[in-house]
Amino acid sequence: MLSVKLAKNIGFCSGVRRAVNIVEETLIQSKSKVYSLGPVIHNPEVIKQLKEKNLCIVNSLDNLEGSSTLILPSHGSPRNILDTAKKKRLRLIDVTCPYVSLVQKICVLLHKQGLEVIIVGDRKHPEVRALLDLAPGAYTIEKIKDIKEDIFSYKKIGIISQTTQTKDIFFGVVSEILQKNPLIKEVHVYNTVCLDTVRRQDEAKKLADSVDILLVIGSRHSANTKRLLCIGRKINKRTHLVENEKANLNKILKKANKVGLISGASTPQWLVKKIVKKIINLRKEKLK
Ligand code: SF4
Repeated sequence: MLSVKLAKNIGFCSGVRRAVNIVEETLIQSKSKVYSLGPVIHNPEVIKQLKEKNLCIVNSLDNLEGSSTLILPSHGSPRNILDTAKKKRLRLIDVTCPYVSLVQKICVLLHKQGLEVIIVGDRKHPEVRALLDLAPGAYTIEKIKDIKEDIFSYKKIGIISQTTQTKDIFFGVVSEILQKNPLIKEVHVYNTVCLDTVRRQDEAKKLADSVDILLVIGSRHSANTKRLLCIGRKINKRTHLVENEKANLNKILKKANKVGLISGASTPQWLVKKIVKKIINLRKEKLK
């Protein structure tokens, strides 16, 4: 019989919950129009709900008027956006996760200390783009194989990670840099993978190993959801991404007895509940 094993860490992480609460409160309180430049968090289901509550999502600040309210997203904003918003005298509501803000401070500190800053993460992700703005000339490294011989030799370096990076990749990159650049003069390493990310990744590993199928609930655009998917697939080939309740669970769960469920940090708990309910209904149908 089909059984469901739910991860302990499901639904929003603390940073996303805080961001969504602030946005909802702003939408209730604000007398002017409320905008966000791109999605506030990476989950289309949540964004759809916020739009229904009158959040306007724009791709540029060009047409925004001075009295408008602009929400700055949870993963941080590049400096040019902040400068433009200030010039236009927009009312800014910053929902950057406090943990992302802390990583930004560390990044600035390393840069000011004259260290070569290395960010282990996805260079196209807004969080990393904002960090690159704070430390001009910083390197980004996405994978261990990106590291060439001796590129950091004789230099003083400071290494940080994107908050949703995997611990294994981060420490793998650190160790590879040290091995390939034995003449580096000074190395400062800050493990800035956030605690919520670490907990979910550890759980994904354990769950993937103990079930027939692992379902990772979240958006394909969410960095932390994609990483959970990769971690799960390395251990259990039957690891699937489920974006919403419209997924063909009947097909996905074929010949499975034990199903594990975990969610990305920007996936709301109500969506996880919907998926669980759908699985329970499928089980009932099979028993008929
Ligand atoms: S995953 Fe971590 S860093 Fe990102 S929003 Fe959540 S708590 Fe903040």
